[in-house]
Amino acid sequence: MTDVRLVRARHVLTCGPDGEVRDGAVAVAGTRIAAVGPFAALRAAHPAAPVVGDGTGILTPGLVSCHGHFSEALVSGMGETHTLWEWFQHVTGPLEPCVTREMALIGTLLRGAEMALSGVTTVADMMCIAPGPEPVTPGVVEGLERLGLRGDVSYGAADDPNPRPLEQVVAEHEALAAAAARSRRSRFRVGLATVPTSSDELIRATAALVAAHGRFHVHLNEVREEVTQSRITHGTTSIGLAARVGLLDAQVLAAHCVWLDDDDVALLQAHDVAVAHNPVSNMILASGVCPVPRLLREGVTVGLGVDGAASNDSQNMLETMKTAALLQRVHHLQARALTAHDVLHMATIGGARALGMADEIGSLEPGKAADLVLFPEHSPSLANIHDPYQKLVYCASVRDVAQVWVDGDPVVVDGGVVGVDIAALLPHSRELAVKLATDAGLDSALARVGADR
Ligand SMILES: [Zn+2]
Repeated sequence: MTDVRLVRARHVLTCGPDGEVRDGAVAVAGTRIAAVGPFAALRAAHPAAPVVGDGTGILTPGLVSCHGHFSEALVSGMGETHTLWEWFQHVTGPLEPCVTREMALIGTLLRGAEMALSGVTTVADMMCIAPGPEPVTPGVVEGLERLGLRGDVSYGAADDPNPRPLEQVVAEHEALAAAAARSRRSRFRVGLATVPTSSDELIRATAALVAAHGRFHVHLNEVREEVTQSRITHGTTSIGLAARVGLLDAQVLAAHCVWLDDDDVALLQAHDVAVAHNPVSNMILASGVCPVPRLLREGVTVGLGVDGAASNDSQNMLETMKTAALLQRVHHLQARALTAHDVLHMATIGGARALGMADEIGSLEPGKAADLVLFPEHSPSLANIHDPYQKLVYCASVRDVAQVWVDGDPVVVDGGVVGVDIAALLPHSRELAVKLATDAGLDSALARVGADR
């Protein structure tokens, strides 16, 4: 193996069977992890290999964000007084017909870079737009490709309150699937925004696509109003309805799952549905608290997501990790409700399992893809590491993310993204953001929010 490189750190957190390796290293050969172990042993085995890292700090697997919406990439920081349904009406609803393919690309570059700078290597996205004659969602794949990120991409189809031609909905799915098939690192997943608000025709078409593709991304039981409305209209919750119409008979990634009864949890278990937990957006939209400790206890796979840039509103995975731990602790009034160790595992191997990719990513193990994040001990926030899990979850900031690799390729080097010139992107991004807000009438929505005060 002539091209072996070593990445070393004081604390190598494998999130796999090896747990923590002190004074450890990962040997990378091409796109794969060749070995994980003590640095001295790997150095002896590969005496000529170049070494990255000075032996301080923390090395982790790449972080996996299991849920988000690049369709919201250009409208962060507005509508803070809305709960979910008001926010649909005033922010995302008006936005959906106005997002162009160029906006999808520029938004993905911008927010994807924000994610990468917080250690994310794999992004599950659900692009929620109104389909038109020209497909929009392939812009997401193009953006992820330029950044070098791994993608699990879906189109969040919907036809309420505005009916949309089914053939355009299917064409959007197919265009995204084709773009993913041509890409290096993205793969396609069938998406549906919500089940109880979808027409029977859309549900049938979605079920056929899910049967063909085998993977499904959807929002389930996010807010109490949704569960109540679904019970009134369909006699069951969103989860119950999804099971009834066959949408859970696949590898299912379900965002939120905040409002669950015993029957819902039993259905998640029976169908091996994975939950994407988005603590920051759940808090901003005042949606509620996902019962994460119970789900983990009962064997449900739970990953973490940053959610969209209009409902988080940052795309900072480190912030999401810390918030995930704090939310459960204050909700349960138990300091043990969710530990830093639990949270890092949810952000890595848990996310990989949630996407059905645990054989490929999520832990530092020989044979897996070389998706790595190096946090050297160079800053005031990371200085003096006692417990690396607690230090990472409670102390680390994006300034501590020095190097990120996907498939062994550098995506972040010395704290800067490789694939895009952010400074050069910003003026154009600003123009597009103003155009989008104007076309969607979001300025008047903001005025309403201001008037509410
Ligand atoms: Zn969402």
